[in-house]
Amino acid sequence: MKIGCPKEIKPQEFRVGMTPDAVREAVSHGHAVVVETNAGAGAGFADADYIAAGATMLGTAEEVFAEAEMIVKVKEPQAVERKRLREGQLLFTYLHLAPDPDQTHDLLDSGVTAIAYETVTDDRGGLPLLAPMSEVAGRLAPQVGAWTLQKANGGRGVLLGGVPGVSPAKVLVIGGGVVGTHAARVAAGMGADVTVIDRSVNRLRYLDDVFGGQFKNAYASAGNTIALAREADMIIGAVLIPGAAAPKLISRAQLSELKPGAALVDVAIDQGGCFETSRATTHQDPIYEVDGIMHYCVANMPGAVARTSTQALGNATMPFMLALANKGWKRACAEDKHLLNGLNTHKGKLTYAAVGAALGLPS
Ligand code: NAD
Repeated sequence: MKIGCPKEIKPQEFRVGMTPDAVREAVSHGHAVVVETNAGAGAGFADADYIAAGATMLGTAEEVFAEAEMIVKVKEPQAVERKRLREGQLLFTYLHLAPDPDQTHDLLDSGVTAIAYETVTDDRGGLPLLAPMSEVAGRLAPQVGAWTLQKANGGRGVLLGGVPGVSPAKVLVIGGGVVGTHAARVAAGMGADVTVIDRSVNRLRYLDDVFGGQFKNAYASAGNTIALAREADMIIGAVLIPGAAAPKLISRAQLSELKPGAALVDVAIDQGGCFETSRATTHQDPIYEVDGIMHYCVANMPGAVARTSTQALGNATMPFMLALANKGWKRACAEDKHLLNGLNTHKGKLTYAAVGAALGLPS
């Protein structure tokens, strides 16, 4: 199969769909890979790395889309890219169609067979192509929160790990899923005094079994949430209710009960945020203050570490990309129900029920 990897064109997107390693694997399985010139530059991969891995570089995205039977990307295709898709072509990338009717209609009009990273599943009920980005965002959260806590950035001027004779900062993590667990591990590793709260008792059991000595946990009742928040120097919002907007767990009125200069890191901002005062920010202007409390609400946190994120995503997509290329999408999906769950559009038909329900379209 001829596989194509264009440069990402969404603003502030520095990741790339295929690493040179992924190209090397595809080529070793007998496939041809065309990559747009400079596609990997934002993630620190030079054209020479791709050529050494066996790719052919093409000067424009038009050529990549025209030549490739399968396009491997990161972000949903932008309007100009959607015009280049066609029936019989396979698109493998993040799509997030449910809130995006324009993109959905364009994909249906194009006839492309689109497999969305975010709806591919695994045997444990997880989302294996979303998890790596949650791991990245989770591990990044204490790092950006520590920076936000610095005096020059408007924070309390508290060092996460303390020093001998001075207590460490207190960190509250709300939601102990993928993001929350990784955030708690890193915050604890930086020496902070960490508590994770969650609404799932089973999840708390797991956290207790595996991380009992490293950080504490508590049930996320409204009472526990505000009591622990009052004590915290940093609060990391990491909740998810699948398919729904994030619940607001700290109201504006409650900000006055928090420590002045405390840092709120709202990782759940891509689902609307879990603090009432959260609004999405960018890497260029990541923090703002409300009632003396600092907020960090970047919706695309993994973009800050584009190289790590590209490698993590590439590791997770590689087996699926190879299965699609080796077997063709029909046999690959017939043999793997989890990959089949990724199928969102085919030949002008919507093939993912939740997207149809969200947009009022037949599926
Ligand atoms: P997850 O499903 O692994 O974990 C979510 C956890 O939240 C679950 O354990 C669940 O029980 C818990 N929860 C739900 N409601 C709660 C409540 N009211 N109080 C306490 N806990 C509650 O999800 P995840 O992969 O860890 O993702 C967490 C959030 O981070 C999501 O909103 C996701 O979209 C977001 N995210 C953002 C970025 C970014 O760049 N900003 C990157 C990756 C993920």
